[in-house]
This record gives sequence, structure tokens and C-alpha cells, in this order.
Amino acid sequence: MKYDIFSSEHEQFRDQLRKFFAEKVAPFADEWDEKRESPRSIWLEMGKMGFLGFGYAPEYGGVGADDIFRIVMAEELSRCGSPGFGVGVCGHNDMSTTYINLLGTHEQKLKWLTPCTTGEAICAIAVTEPGAGSDVAAISTRAERKGDKYIVNGQKTFISNGYYGDLLVTAVKTDTKAKPAHSGISLIVIESKMKGVSANKLEKIGGHSSDTAEIFFEDVEVPAENLLGEEGQGFYAIMTNFQLERLIAGIICVETAQYILEKTIEYTKERVAFKKPISKFQVIKHKLVDMATDIELHRALGYKCAEVYAQGEDVTKEISMFKASTGEMVNRVVYDATQLHGGYGYMAEYEVARLYADLRAVSIAGGTTEIMKEIIARLMGI
Ligand SMILES: Cc1cc2nc3c(=O)[nH]c(=O)nc-3n(C[C@H](O)[C@H](O)[C@H](O)COP(=O)(O)OP(=O)(O)OC[C@H]3O[C@@H](n4cnc5c(N)ncnc54)[C@H](O)[C@@H]3O)c2cc1C
Repeated sequence: MKYDIFSSEHEQFRDQLRKFFAEKVAPFADEWDEKRESPRSIWLEMGKMGFLGFGYAPEYGGVGADDIFRIVMAEELSRCGSPGFGVGVCGHNDMSTTYINLLGTHEQKLKWLTPCTTGEAICAIAVTEPGAGSDVAAISTRAERKGDKYIVNGQKTFISNGYYGDLLVTAVKTDTKAKPAHSGISLIVIESKMKGVSANKLEKIGGHSSDTAEIFFEDVEVPAENLLGEEGQGFYAIMTNFQLERLIAGIICVETAQYILEKTIEYTKERVAFKKPISKFQVIKHKLVDMATDIELHRALGYKCAEVYAQGEDVTKEISMFKASTGEMVNRVVYDATQLHGGYGYMAEYEVARLYADLRAVSIAGGTTEIMKEIIARLMGI
């Protein structure tokens, strides 16, 4: 089915991305997975091509592209062969630099957004802590104001781009006594090279080319001018940007499911059992039809959310539905796809097996399915 949210410019961008990823990412995906990182050179090439920070104003290196370009990027990253690399790029483009753009002053944007659009700096969002994930208001990383500096102490975990990243948009408590607690949360940019910042890479079951880290802050002296917006604005900014983050996460789920379906159809047409391609068995045909239907239903909701979000409207309820439901849907699709690959689907050299592990994170990261349902229930007045 054709959808009319994409203009010819969006489609040209898609063609450029698909060609670039096929040449510069897919052939190296296994190597990057093994090294547990995507090389800095690919970020610089992405920057040169205009694939980073394209939504920001020209004075900061972007082209002021609309949000539908972000959707195209998310879809093409889903097909780039390296889901971990996709997480890194979306983490940078849609989930962290966005705060600098939303809250930053002109000077802060010049200083940080400009290198983020060229790929010279990689950005991360650091909210989650060992003791506080879903409950963002319970974070305990402290930023205490001392003269023209904040002294930051605390720990973050599960941070994408957290090991190789240069800029950490970090959620801190600037007021530990604030009531409600979330009104004491602020966002501050901490440079990973600052004295007192250290990180350990975490070993995951999938998404290997994305570096995920725990980060420690020990008496880190951060200039007060690194605060984004005003003290106490952090939680509200995080909740605002979650709309975009969750929309992008859902789009990745839909397009990755589509990619898996296409690969699985090819496989079932080639694989022969009982003297015929397994795609000829009715039970298998029906399974593929169920997968395709699941995907189309989610795609329709996702594109509608994207269209309304791009017009600047609040679609928190529907985007939360989309994130919750697509996170579960893509896991159903990859489970069934693995089944249809038989024993080969369980072998690490098969892409579907790797995707099985990669995709387990999507119903957890960026807000769990349960937390999405809590938000939806609240917005439904129940
Ligand atoms: C691959 C990956 C990348 C990530 N990248 C980042 C990143 O870049 N930056 C960042 O800040 N964080 C990141 N995260 C962290 C992620 O956002 C958190 O893991 C997630 O929000 C859940 O928090 P938690 O792990 O503390 O789980 P918990 O909050 O401890 O939840 C545990 C379980 O309890 C359930 N639960 C909790 N509260 C409720 C409730 N009220 N009602 C019903 N059920 C509930 C949850 O749904 C979950 O099933 C990443 C995580 C992963 C896996």
C-alpha cells in the first residue's frame, strides 16, 4: 500500500541512505559486532553526507529538515544490516542532541550541535541509573552548585554511545528536596573527557556494534554554563522528547519486522521439505500472512503518528500505544521467522538468529511495554 507522508525529497533521501548503507555499513556489520563498536570513520562519513543532525538549523550544520526525514532514516537504518549501528545513530540524532536543540542557547548549540552534525562528536543521553530506570524521578546522580561550577557525583547505566561518546546529556538532581521529586531534575552536558568521568562497556546479548556503558561521575567539575535550560526543567524535557524517541523506536520495529518477513519469504521459497518448497504448506503461508498483517496494522498507526507529530501536535497516547505494541509485534515476528528457518534459525551465522537477540531489547529500552501501558491508561483517565 502507498502512503502519502513521503515527498519526492524524502524518497531521494531514502535512495541515498540505502546506497550508502549497502556500501559502507552492511559489508562491515560482522566486523563491528565482533569489535563491539562502530568506527569513528563511519560517523565522519555520515556527517559529510549530511546524515547527522539534518533537522537542526543551518547555523549549526543542519538543513532544517522536517521530522519525516527522521522516519526515513529510522526505516533505512532498520535495513542497514547492523542494528547496533542503528541504535547508535538514532541515539545521537533523535534521543540526545535533540535536548541541546530544544533547551540550548545559541552558544551551546554552536559549541555542541555543530560537531554533532559533522560526526566529530558523538552524543548520548544518560538518564538510567542502577537504581532508577522506569522511575526517572528516583534518579540520584547529584549536581551541586558551587560558584560557577556544578560538582557531579553518581552513576548511570545502559547508556547507548556511553563508552565512545564525547557528550553526555545527563539527567541530574540539582534539588534533592524538590516536591514533587521530578521537579528537582535538570539536564547538563558532561564531556566524557572531563576529570572524574569513567566508563565500562557492558556486554549485551545483541546489538553488539552499539557500545552500551555504565558511567561513573566522581567529583566532576562541570561549568555551570553546561546546564541545558533552567534548573528543574530536565524531567519535562525528557518527557517531551520521549514522544520522538518512542516514535522512532516503533518505526524501527515495523521496518525491521518487514525486513525479517521479506528474508523469511525468500527462505521458505527456497527451502525444500517433503519434495516441495516449505512456502507451499498452507500452515506456513498463513503464518507469513499473519506476520504481514501484523506489520501493516502497525505501519498505518506509525505513519499517522508521524504525520501528526511532524505537524507539532501532542500524540503521546498514540505514540505510547505504537511503541508498546510494535515492541511486542517485532518480537512475535522474529520468533515466528526463527521457527520457519528451522534449525538454521538457531545458528549464530544466520541473520534471523542474530536479530532474535538484537530485538529483545526493543520492548525494554526507551520505556518498557508496561510503562507505556501505564502512560496510556493515565491518558485514558483510568
Ligand atoms: C539496549 C539498551 C539501551 C539503552 N539505552 C539507554 C540510553 O541510551 N540512555 C538511558 O538513559 N537508558 C538507556 N537504557 C535503559 C532503559 O531505558 C531502561 O532499561 C528501561 O527504562 C527500564 O528500566 P530498568 O532497566 O531500570 O527496569 P525497571 O524499571 O527496574 O523495571 C523492571 C520491570 O518492572 C516493570 N515495572 C517497573 N515499574 C512498573 C510499574 N509502575 N508498573 C508495571 N511494571 C513496572 C518494568 O516494565 C520491567 O518489566 C537502555 C536499555 C537497553 C536494554
